Amino acid sequence: MASLMILKSLKKQRSFSSLSPITSSISRFVSTLILGEHEGGQLKQSSLCAVAAAGAISADNSISLLLAGSGPSLQQAASHAASIHPSISQVLVADSDKLSHPLAEPWAELVRLVQQKGRYSHIIAASSSFGKNTLPRAAALLDVSPITDVIEISGPQLFVRPIYAGNALSTVRYTGVDPCLLTIRSTSFPVPHISSDSKSDAAPVSQVDLSTFSEDILDKSRYLKLTSQDTERPDLGSARIVVTGGRGLKSAENFKLMEKLAEKLGAAVGATRAAVDAGFVPNELQVGQTGKIVAPELYMAFGVSGAIQHLAGMRDSKVIVAVNKDADSPIFQVADYGLVADLFDVIPELLEKLPEKK
Ligand SMILES: Cc1cc2nc3c(=O)[nH]c(=O)nc-3n(C[C@H](O)[C@H](O)[C@H](O)COP(=O)(O)OP(=O)(O)OC[C@H]3O[C@@H](n4cnc5c(N)ncnc54)[C@H](O)[C@@H]3O)c2cc1C
Repeated sequence: MASLMILKSLKKQRSFSSLSPITSSISRFVSTLILGEHEGGQLKQSSLCAVAAAGAISADNSISLLLAGSGPSLQQAASHAASIHPSISQVLVADSDKLSHPLAEPWAELVRLVQQKGRYSHIIAASSSFGKNTLPRAAALLDVSPITDVIEISGPQLFVRPIYAGNALSTVRYTGVDPCLLTIRSTSFPVPHISSDSKSDAAPVSQVDLSTFSEDILDKSRYLKLTSQDTERPDLGSARIVVTGGRGLKSAENFKLMEKLAEKLGAAVGATRAAVDAGFVPNELQVGQTGKIVAPELYMAFGVSGAIQHLAGMRDSKVIVAVNKDADSPIFQVADYGLVADLFDVIPELLEKLPEKK
């Protein structure tokens, strides 16, 4: 521990000496590496939220975005990322077949390699399956302790994160050595709208030198296949409206009612763990402590009791509507609008009254 402390103070002196004049630890140089996720040649919204989070660390933050993969879609994503947000200072691209799938082990090694050169003070990933999988492994390789699920950033070393399934908030001060590794909840760092006029020139894009990339780690995991649903509905994590069904739907067949409702509202479909465990829907739709965290403008819950683990994933929604036939269901304690009724009466009526989606 003592050696860690000494290392930290030495490191600070080193970084201060490059910045003159030296004032206090608050003014130390802040630079952040963001682990970017991309799909179909576009940077994912959750990575943009990570950029917003980096902006909260310090106004002077120098932000580098790291993208990996192979082929034209990577280069397309790099051009997209370079011009999408004025606070991105540079885009780093690791183009290699070894990184063509977002596997945590090679990505962790990539982060170690990039950190060796860039000496960032912070490394951020969104709290997605990818970020939750990769960042702790990168932290282990860099010998630091990550801080996960951050929802508020009060300075370069001060972070707020929920604990006890969101029932308490813990403020954490990072006292370790650089870099400070964070996963952030995208719903807590919305990206402000950027008008096309306010965008500055595109950030420079440079290739990461992978000549010293260690291959030892590659046999630790193997990519088999990706299964995803082909849907035009919005992504659950970033949808403006979410309609969620619980065990009260009773069957996979009945769950189609939720899909019809989502269709009419332009919403994403969510589910409770009970509905997932009963096989009504795949587990990628699960909302909650062990599922996705959502905070849409409108969250509609049908046949959902409101267990604490479910609330952990949706309680930050702006407006919550609940339909449940049991007036004592805990979901009504968080609902802005509650209807004690049978969902099999309510949903068909809603479907009838809602206009067709244009
Ligand atoms: C470690 C751990 C992690 C967990 N993580 C999650 C998680 O991420 N997400 C999650 O959701 N759960 C999670 N759970 C499970 C959680 O505790 C609950 O069991 C689950 O959320 C209950 O789902 P439900 O509300 O669909 O089912 P139930 O609790 O069975 O509630 C069904 C509700 O439907 C109502 N209902 C029934 N019929 C009708 C009808 N016709 N019309 C209207 N209402 C009707 C009933 O009144 C009831 O309130 C976790 C549990 C543990 C232990």
